[in-house]
Amino acid sequence: MTARAHELKVREVLGETADAVSLIFDVPTDLTQRFAYAPGQYLTLRIPSDRTGSVARCYSLSSSPHCDERPTVTVKRTPGGYGSNWLCDSVSAGDILTVLEPAGAFTPRTWNRDLLLCAAGSGITPIMSILKSALILGRGDITLLYANRDRASVIFAEQLRQLVRRHPRRLTVLHWLESERGLPTAHGIATAARPYRRHDVYLCGPTGFAAAVEQGLARLRIPERAIHREHYRSLTDNPFERHLRTPTPVAATPTAAPAADAATVRVDIDGNTHTLPWPRTRKLLDVLLDHGIDAPYVCRESACATCVCTVKHGRTRMLTNESLIPEELSRGLTLACQTLPESDSLHITFDE
Ligand SMILES: Cc1cc2nc3c(=O)[nH]c(=O)nc-3n(C[C@H](O)[C@H](O)[C@H](O)COP(=O)(O)OP(=O)(O)OC[C@H]3O[C@@H](n4cnc5c(N)ncnc54)[C@H](O)[C@@H]3O)c2cc1C
Repeated sequence: MTARAHELKVREVLGETADAVSLIFDVPTDLTQRFAYAPGQYLTLRIPSDRTGSVARCYSLSSSPHCDERPTVTVKRTPGGYGSNWLCDSVSAGDILTVLEPAGAFTPRTWNRDLLLCAAGSGITPIMSILKSALILGRGDITLLYANRDRASVIFAEQLRQLVRRHPRRLTVLHWLESERGLPTAHGIATAARPYRRHDVYLCGPTGFAAAVEQGLARLRIPERAIHREHYRSLTDNPFERHLRTPTPVAATPTAAPAADAATVRVDIDGNTHTLPWPRTRKLLDVLLDHGIDAPYVCRESACATCVCTVKHGRTRMLTNESLIPEELSRGLTLACQTLPESDSLHITFDE
């Protein structure tokens, strides 16, 4: 289902810490299906700008669809950042924001595994959604390793205390405060994570923290396939400007003849099948959009995984990949926004 833009009312703005707020949205009944989300997914918000019309920024849902009534995102100020400061300073209850439907693939596929959740700063947001969901849906042990500058900057500190009180046998929270221990180091992470080295790892935080965690876990010989990571960054493209344009529909011919330097691809999407020429140097998502096919996408930069699809037949290659882990690649998953054909004849599905 394509991520579309909708207007949502902000029901409440909660101050979480001195530099983070949560925005709780009201979803009207006719959009309930469209805003159904999985733990770990995010919303993309349109932030008005005098300079550029708008900017688009992604914010992970900190709420859990399994215990929270309304979708909530949590935004932490980025020093000097435009979007995050606008959201923290300018949004009040009752305001209307333009929001893309939930997207992203940072979601556990099964809830009964033991989890090691690693977060720093605003990286807690999708981790919190996963943590709350796993406590409800699963039976495994959950350990959160959570790094922050100091005690006052710990987002969700009280909620976490309450969850530990309620689930003392299943949930362990290990805080790493920079004010007390300095920046997280690979050695320190390895020491803290050692008892949990057989757990599935979900990791979200700034580059320095993520690198320390990855190095620390490598020392424990935790295989790469067990580590799932969400990458935060600001979009350079603006999906809202694209969404506002009316796409020019081009009839998709059921059996288009291949161009001279093109492969042929059969694409299953939204219950329909299209057979199209796929020029060797053109990315699959662009080919689909060229043909007026309503393919899902947000960032077009490999970060969001909204355009994920499965190669059923034929060989492809991705130009960049920031979202899929080796295990997903081995199942044939690919990102349409980065995929070029290698075989002459291919079959790709978005419908799995
Ligand atoms: C999947 C995903 C999930 C995320 N989840 C979260 C989350 O849960 N919580 C969270 O806090 N962050 C999250 N992020 C990060 C978030 O999307 C932003 O990257 C972050 O808030 C920083 O954005 P910023 O605009 O404040 O800063 P920057 O992007 O650093 O802002 C500076 C940029 O804004 C431009 N700019 C400056 N002034 C203007 C202007 N007037 N008009 C237009 N442009 C201007 C500058 O040219 C520069 O490019 C997530 C990112 C991703 C990809």
